[in-house]
Formats: sequence, C-alpha cells, structure tokens
Amino acid sequence: MLQSIKGDFFPKIYMVTQRYGNDDGKGYVFELLSNSHSAICPMCGEESKRPHSYQDRTVRDLPILGESVTLLMTQQKYFCDNEECEVDIFTERTDLVNPYFQFTERCRKYMLKVASLVSCEAAVKILSYQGIRVCGDTLLNMLKEAGQVYQPNCGRRIGVDDWAYRKGQEYGTIICDLDTHEIIDVLEGRDKETFEKWLRGHPDIEIVSRDRASAYASAVTTVLPEAVQIADRFHITKNLLEALKDTMKTFMPEVVDVPNDEPVPPKAVEPNQLVKKTPKPLTGEPRK
Ligand SMILES: [Zn+2]
Repeated sequence: MLQSIKGDFFPKIYMVTQRYGNDDGKGYVFELLSNSHSAICPMCGEESKRPHSYQDRTVRDLPILGESVTLLMTQQKYFCDNEECEVDIFTERTDLVNPYFQFTERCRKYMLKVASLVSCEAAVKILSYQGIRVCGDTLLNMLKEAGQVYQPNCGRRIGVDDWAYRKGQEYGTIICDLDTHEIIDVLEGRDKETFEKWLRGHPDIEIVSRDRASAYASAVTTVLPEAVQIADRFHITKNLLEALKDTMKTFMPEVVDVPNDEPVPPKAVEPNQLVKKTPKPLTGEPRK
C-alpha cells in the first residue's frame, strides 16, 4: 500500500522514502527529496535551470488509518536570471503545498471542510481524533485566509449561514459557493449590516440559499432585490418539525391522565387448572 502512496500521491519531482515513527514514535514520516532540474519563477514566470541551494520544510498531510502523516521536504531553490524580475532566488513550487502553509493543500481543504461544518473548537477535537493536530486559532486564520483567496472569484449562487467561533459565545457568517462547495468568505458577526456590506461588493449574485434568520433575508432584499432567496433543506425540515409540534399542541389536552403503573400481581392458579404431564414413551435402541 505504501509503495502506491509514494508513487501516486506525491509530485514526481520528489524521491520518496518512508519510515514509521515521528518524534513521538507514532505516525508515518515521508522524506521528500527534490530531484528537479528546472523550475518556473513564481514572480515573472520564466524558467530557471540554475540551482542555488536546498530548503527544508516540515509539512503535515492527511492521516493514514488514523495515524498522523508528516512530510520532511527538501525543496530546491533556483536563481531567477531575468533582470527585470523582482526576485533573485526562489523556491520551486508544486500543487502539493502552498509555500505559506504548514499543511498540504489536500489536508488544508479537508480541515476547512470540517471547520465549516462545526465550530472551530469542535473541529480541533475531531481532527485530533483523526491524527491531525491543529489549534483553534490556526484553524480560524485558515478559514479567514480561505475567504480572502476565493473572494474575487465568487460564484453567482451562494449559501449563507451563521457559524460559531465559540459555541454560544461568538458567531460569524460563513458564505459558500453552491456550485463548487468552496468557502467564499467568513465574516465577523451575523448581523444584517455585516452581510449587507459584503453583498454590495458582489452585485452579480443571483441566488442566495439562507437560513431563516431575518437579518440575512433583509440584507438580500435591501441590496439585491432581484436575487432569488431559497430556504435551505436543513431549515425547511426544521420549519416542518416545529409546525408539526405546534399543531400537536392544539390537539393535546392541557392535562393528560397517565395510568398508575404499579406492577400487577400475577393471578393465582386454581388447583384444577394444573395439568399433570404424562411421561413420554422411550424410543430408540436401549443403551448397552
Ligand atoms: Zn523571476
């Protein structure tokens, strides 16, 4: 299995070796040594074949069978020989990891998905159980950064809901693209003004799936009166259950008699009801 992981899950420029046991003696460790001969400068886009030095990084990846995965990466640095470029030296880049994050992109996306479904504190516990160690503040910053990254490419169909930084204490607003299921933005606060301000910067939005909170509905009506508002499935179900409860209450009497549930003593059996068992005749060969 691990041979397949090495070949399919890491960019081909790396020579991969694997061992078991991190500093704490647990989890899988993959050592990735760059074997590249050229790289594209991220600033000017020109290719460079002139190596400079190596850079070591430690990155966390998705766990394997509940065990943590650590990547010890040795990346190649190159000179940029373009005289008009702002940088002289750059580090090669791959889709595996963003140079500014300590988690691989696939791990980061998974963490964001979990954090967007529950609160940050709950996400930290769930992720820790799965072998991904992260603190709540890092997770919160990652969510905010994800919002900034995706904001300019916001889709036309969005979902909006309130979201707990700390359950029962501090709430924000999370906005997702309904087509790509990516987080578009995380706003501080869940009031009408906060969402209105955001909507003014996104006039192309056509459909908003939202909860029942009047603040979001009112913000959409004020800023984008042409946009279609949809109640999401979770909240429609919630509405239905609450309506059923209210209806039941109108039919139920105020006082309901509950029968005394003291144990009933077993009935005495009359002697003539007793039936004497007739012994069955023996069958088969007698024992010798
Ligand atoms: Zn350059």
